[in-house]
Amino acid sequence: MAFELPELPYNYDALEPHYDAQTVEIHHSKHHNTYVTKLNAAADAAGVSDKSLEDILTDLDSISEDKRTPVRNHAGGTWNHTFFWHSLSPSGGEPTGAISDAIQARWDSFDAFKEAFSDKAANHFGSGWAWLIVDGDGELQITDTHDQVCPLSLGQKPLLTIDVWEHAYYLKYKNVRPDWIAAFWNLVNWDEVNKRFEA
Ligand code: MN
Repeated sequence: MAFELPELPYNYDALEPHYDAQTVEIHHSKHHNTYVTKLNAAADAAGVSDKSLEDILTDLDSISEDKRTPVRNHAGGTWNHTFFWHSLSPSGGEPTGAISDAIQARWDSFDAFKEAFSDKAANHFGSGWAWLIVDGDGELQITDTHDQVCPLSLGQKPLLTIDVWEHAYYLKYKNVRPDWIAAFWNLVNWDEVNKRFEA
């Protein structure tokens, strides 16, 4: 069974005006799709086509070194984007439920968390992602990963992410990554974050 590009959980224009339809369409139908296509080739070459994406990402070391890099890049690119799309919703807002309590316990307030996460995303050098994760000790942490490295490969449980590759925001926000990050806060799907947190 080949890996396939998942449908978005909303229409391409559903995240307007914060995330424009043109960027969402190209990001999903071109960028995300290319990772899926190249994952299929890389997974075939590495003999892991029969494994789930999660199993591949949590066990990259089992792939021979000469085949590992394209699998890491394209499995990560495939999984990270699907996770990103589901981190967003047209009806985003302030956190609720268990994750709201946990964020306040860890950072004192949602505003302090938001500032720390935004700083991590804004200051990430080059292409990559900022994340809210649960680490191996069960603690909430704000992290970043380069290129398409996935927190699953680092033994972490990801809860929320923002894509800070230029392709994620350049058409609308040009070189001003902080404007994209500010817009992102209007779109966070906290119901989904809570589901991930409680799973
Ligand atoms: Mn992307």
